[in-house]
Amino acid sequence: MLLLDGKRTAQEIRAEIRAEVAALIAAAGRPPGLAVILVGQDPASQVYVRNKERACLEAGIASFAHRLPATTPQADLEGLISDLNADPAVDGVLLQLPLPAGLNDRRCLELISPDKDVDGFHPLNVGRLTLGLPGFRPCTPAGIMTLLERYGLSPAGKRAVVLGRSNIVGRPLALMLAQRGEYADATVTICHSRTPDVAAECRRADFLFAAVGRPGFVTRDMVKPGAVVVDVGISRTDQGLAGDCDFKALKDVVSAMTPVPGGVGPMTIAQLLLNTVQAYRARVRA
Ligand code: NAP
Repeated sequence: MLLLDGKRTAQEIRAEIRAEVAALIAAAGRPPGLAVILVGQDPASQVYVRNKERACLEAGIASFAHRLPATTPQADLEGLISDLNADPAVDGVLLQLPLPAGLNDRRCLELISPDKDVDGFHPLNVGRLTLGLPGFRPCTPAGIMTLLERYGLSPAGKRAVVLGRSNIVGRPLALMLAQRGEYADATVTICHSRTPDVAAECRRADFLFAAVGRPGFVTRDMVKPGAVVVDVGISRTDQGLAGDCDFKALKDVVSAMTPVPGGVGPMTIAQLLLNTVQAYRARVRA
């Protein structure tokens, strides 16, 4: 089995970005800038934000973190987003989700300028993805597509099954797989909690993507021999982080698979840096 090493691939991409950013700073006179907003004390979100800050620093991207108390009023949060939209040093604005209860995430996401929407959650960018037009793509599914490309694993002409239909992972991933293109052109099935026989759908998949959020959900009898399996799930268990796939049981059946941790997670951060550089290039026309 080929291990799809997201950690190593992300490190390679981050080194490439670092070199690219150094050249861009020399040409345009300022670094790309990413503003990250974290509201409240959610422990997982704090780790994600710290990792994003560290990745920016290492790549030479200026990182502006805004940590707000959980009691922040909606109007203040919207005010901050508007300020960041207008700030010339900021190329990307990322609102870490989930927001504490009482805050309206949809309204905030729609306020982020589509030109700075490096998470790709603004309806304009979602629309562009749906239409197959250029725009910002959500980092987790885009990172997965980048990983497949780096390993030369094209889903073109193959059957792809996506488990999960969230706006963050499953739905945009399915759209990307079904786009026209060398590393797309898949025939895609989306499964969710109302799908009658998920196992039967999975067994037909040449490429299986699991984004359900249930440890060990995908068992050996659910995969087609030789399939490529991408495990997006991250759940905290007593044994540590666990993916949606039973890695040990699947590894002798599949042809390639991502580990958890060290698979999709690091690619998500690398993709965020790529998106930030994309935003910067568009703004400075570099
Ligand atoms: P989510 O919003 O909870 O979505 C889960 C999806 O799984 C839903 O569409 C749900 O269906 C579906 N589902 C639930 N039970 C199912 C079942 N028995 N059979 C088939 N489908 C079922 O989660 P998410 O935000 O997409 O995240 C999914 C996982 O990926 C989580 O573990 C999360 O931590 C992880 N994640 C990882 C990264 C990363 O960077 N590696 C990034 C984002 C998320 P319904 O729509 O019908 O409810």
